[in-house]
Amino acid sequence: MSVNPTRARKDVPAHEKWNLNALFPDDAAWEQGFEDLKNQYTEIETYRGSLADAPENLRDCLNRMFELEKLGERLGYYAFLKMTEDQGDSASQSRQARFMQLESKVSASMSFMTPEIQEIPDSTMKEWLNRDDFTEYRIYLEKLLRFKPHVLSPAEEKLMAMQSESAQTASKTFSALLDVDMDFGTVKTPQGEKPLTNSTFGSFMQNPEREVRKEAYGKYYSHLDSHKNTLASLYTGSVNQDVYRSQARGYSSSLEYALFPDKVDPKVYHNLVETVNKNLPSLHAYYRLRKEKQGISDYSLIDTKVPLIADIKMEHSYDEAVAVIEKALQPLGDEYVSTLSKGLRGGSNGGWVDKYENKGKRSGAFSAGSFYGEPYILMNYKEDLLRDLFTLAHEGGHSMHSWYSSRNNPFPHYNYTIFEAEVASTFNEQLLFHHMMSSNDDPKLKAYLINKRIDDMIGTIFRQTMFAEFELRCHQMVENGEALTVQSLQDEYRKLLVNYFGEDVELPELSALEGLRIPHFYRAFYVYKYATGLSAAISLSQRVLNGGDTEREDYFKFLKSGGSRFPLESLAVAGVDMSSPEPIQNAMDLFDDLVKKLSAY
Ligand SMILES: [Zn+2]
Repeated sequence: MSVNPTRARKDVPAHEKWNLNALFPDDAAWEQGFEDLKNQYTEIETYRGSLADAPENLRDCLNRMFELEKLGERLGYYAFLKMTEDQGDSASQSRQARFMQLESKVSASMSFMTPEIQEIPDSTMKEWLNRDDFTEYRIYLEKLLRFKPHVLSPAEEKLMAMQSESAQTASKTFSALLDVDMDFGTVKTPQGEKPLTNSTFGSFMQNPEREVRKEAYGKYYSHLDSHKNTLASLYTGSVNQDVYRSQARGYSSSLEYALFPDKVDPKVYHNLVETVNKNLPSLHAYYRLRKEKQGISDYSLIDTKVPLIADIKMEHSYDEAVAVIEKALQPLGDEYVSTLSKGLRGGSNGGWVDKYENKGKRSGAFSAGSFYGEPYILMNYKEDLLRDLFTLAHEGGHSMHSWYSSRNNPFPHYNYTIFEAEVASTFNEQLLFHHMMSSNDDPKLKAYLINKRIDDMIGTIFRQTMFAEFELRCHQMVENGEALTVQSLQDEYRKLLVNYFGEDVELPELSALEGLRIPHFYRAFYVYKYATGLSAAISLSQRVLNGGDTEREDYFKFLKSGGSRFPLESLAVAGVDMSSPEPIQNAMDLFDDLVKKLSAY
């Protein structure tokens, strides 16, 4: 079955759509909820100035806050999901805009709470935390109180808050420059002239025609080159801002500051960088293999993203894809599989998944799970694309993580962190890979699967670790009083490119400018989580595949812990110790093995 991608939203039958009834039965019910929140939220301010006076005040205020947040979350998810169904729908646009306005008012009215809570003397708070009526709020409060040593005086906090909007100038200017102002022109392709933009650049690098890649790369980077002083100055501004904030709040470094909310020891970060560096010869071996297979003598960076094996044509109807996923996830047991399967398939009134394309629908895929309602999934499923089967398994992993988290925790700490988010999703991809390798004989399919896995690991582990290393180096330079200049930034980045790509890959003249075009760098020390997440998932999936009931139950403890533990603690419960280099080394060993397997095809 194939759908018409330009069909109108109203023509999509119910069994192909998600069923949002568990959030709100219809738009009118949402409006009622919206009115309720609008009429109720200012009540929270009656507690202002009283939180330290009596434990009952704090308890009642938290109770009220979480009730309002619960309603707000439900309203927000409905508005957001409706919007993604058809982004051109004006009713959805206005609903979303009205919600966002109200939400910022609600959070402004609650902003007195954190500082008041942090001002309660430690001895008093210790007593209160032991009260029975604080059980549900204990974890929330403990997480909040950790920040106490880094809270400044009220006057200083006010100054920090007043500066927070102007602190975003570098990142806003960066995206305005790259996404809007810069005109990269067009590139000649066998299918005609195609616009070169910041977002189409990546797909040009996958084009099988080398001339197309060359032209795109040259044009893109010469534009960056003509703006390199601006780009360097923007990134320097962002690093300076990170260093300023971390020092103002008394952290020992900007790295410690960034890792503090997740309670991740900087050692985890350093382990990742060191372990990946030790294993770069495996990556070099892969590039050598590519060079051979692609048959290019002056092999260069611009050749490293072309798929070695084009996407396999293998038809899976949506229901067939679900059936494959059911088999692949069997090691997780009946409850997991049957719950997921029911959600993915849905019934005549729909289920978790909005399955296929329609006009105006948001592209790509995501999972969005809230405390109420189902863990919804947006897909644009195409039955001839094998990668969509993997995407469905991936999003299903996110959704089951949300499903277990919201059913095993109270609202104040049901939600897991971004550090943990990609574990459950990539875990499922590992199981799917394992299943497809063992249930298929076609050597071309197997080579495709191995290569896909290799490229995923490069994009998620090696590349993000290289980025992580660059960020660390730049922040350290500023912290050591060294200057970040257009020259020093390029020098540092070039060193990394040489290390990561090895001897068999030539680096184009302007390639060191890449370090100045990565949007994620404006949210410092974030990308390492991709690398640690996939590494954890690899170790955990091997543990479950090679283990028995105990190993599986350990994994469920992780899925069920939601936000009740810090990320490293919940992963440790599942059986993987991210404070040791072992899980990273384990991923590196797997990578090395995959490269050797691929060379046999
Ligand atoms: Zn994901």
